[in-house]
Amino acid sequence: MRIAIDMDEVLADAHAGQRRLYRDLGFDPTDEDLRGCELRDKAPAEMAAEVERRLHTGLFFADLDPVPGAQDALRRLRAEHDVFVASAAMEYPASCVHKVAWMERHFPDFPISNLVFCGDKSILRADVLIDDHAHHFEGFAGKGLLFSALHNHGHDWPDRLAHWDDCDVRLGEISA
Ligand SMILES: [Mg+2]
Repeated sequence: MRIAIDMDEVLADAHAGQRRLYRDLGFDPTDEDLRGCELRDKAPAEMAAEVERRLHTGLFFADLDPVPGAQDALRRLRAEHDVFVASAAMEYPASCVHKVAWMERHFPDFPISNLVFCGDKSILRADVLIDDHAHHFEGFAGKGLLFSALHNHGHDWPDRLAHWDDCDVRLGEISA
């Protein structure tokens, strides 16, 4: 199968990174506070604007930790499938160079030719798209596999990947 995988909150722990930014500004919600919503929707508007400004510098994306299990999972998936990493990086154009460097640092075996930066993910042609935002599945011809995140908690979507440890079983079911 050809599998496309999102970066932020799927491979790169952008949620933890944003929580650090908000904590530095004085906003420190609990996981319970954040179920089913985005940090920016809970934070005071001026803090959300400041975080957005920092995201637009691009540097934020250079310093994220990998999501637990993502490195091993990508290695395993690449042994069996045609794997692309697809990020809607146009949301933060200055992030592109940092995202390339981040992939090279944390996924050194991953071929950079299989890294795709786009806006609208309906342009992707793959059998499966693993993403934490279900709106990216609109217009996508393959199967959308929703990677669980606090913000999509409670979102009604038929196919989920709760964490990377489950990916072999879930993708095996899809390809069967
Ligand atoms: Mg994402």
